[in-house]
Amino acid sequence: MNFAGKVVLITGASSGIGAAAAKQFAGLGASLALAGRNLDNLKQVASECSPGNKAPLLLTGELTNEKDTEEIFQKTITHYGRLDILVNNAGIIETGSIENTNVQQYDRVMNTNVRSLYHLTTLAVPHLVKTKGNIVNVSSVNGLRAFPGVLAYCLSKAAVDQFTRCVALDLAPKQVRVNCVNPGVTITNLHKRGGMNQEQYEAFIKRSSETHALGRPGKPEEVAQTIVFLASDDASFITGATIPVDGGRHAMCPR
Ligand code: NDP
Repeated sequence: MNFAGKVVLITGASSGIGAAAAKQFAGLGASLALAGRNLDNLKQVASECSPGNKAPLLLTGELTNEKDTEEIFQKTITHYGRLDILVNNAGIIETGSIENTNVQQYDRVMNTNVRSLYHLTTLAVPHLVKTKGNIVNVSSVNGLRAFPGVLAYCLSKAAVDQFTRCVALDLAPKQVRVNCVNPGVTITNLHKRGGMNQEQYEAFIKRSSETHALGRPGKPEEVAQTIVFLASDDASFITGATIPVDGGRHAMCPR
């Protein structure tokens, strides 16, 4: 795989899966636009990217704010003059079942995980059509399967999966591929930011040995490897796919 001459825009590149993807794309020669809210963390990720590369363009902004999203996108095009790959990775999780969720939670989760991705993709598509580029969305096993207690999150990721398939069909005649990865539990900041304290998080990670067939949670680098593969020419005949990177969790049923 070689991304020399390719421009890759990654959202949520300041942490977890997005940061791991940034480092892998950099190692394969890509020119990077890295978006996040925390500039210090973005700088840290950039400093860990392959030194042989041009310094990544760092872009801060709140993706639920349309102006910020437009600015992030416009600055990428102004800087590089093109876009080859969009990785829609930024996302949040919140807990809540139908008995204790509310529409405010629905709005927060859907606005971040779906609306902002929908918006950024509309901006990117004319440029991806020009370069015959591709899109990789970061969904979740929660898009493929139902879990109790994370209703808004499951809905948002099912929407990302269907968005992936629909946009893949819209853009296939133009040779733009659109795919997504569906990670299982992956060790990042996501769950603690979603409200788990250290003790709850440790118990959750421990339980992942039972809830994932391979007997452990995933690492961000393992998800990033599949993102990079889907974005590469090695995946030239794959579009509309939702690829679990979840240690077999999607295939499991309680017994
Ligand atoms: P992290 O919390 O480690 O990273 C989330 C990233 O998204 C950060 O870079 C954060 O920016 C950014 N982000 C979140 N909300 C916004 C926003 N409103 N505007 C701009 N940027 C935002 O989590 P992960 O790396 O785990 O999450 C990445 C993706 O992977 C998400 O879509 C998540 O749903 C998905 N996923 C994760 C799993 C897991 O177990 N970790 C499992 C399945 C899917 P900043 O830090 O700068 O604020």
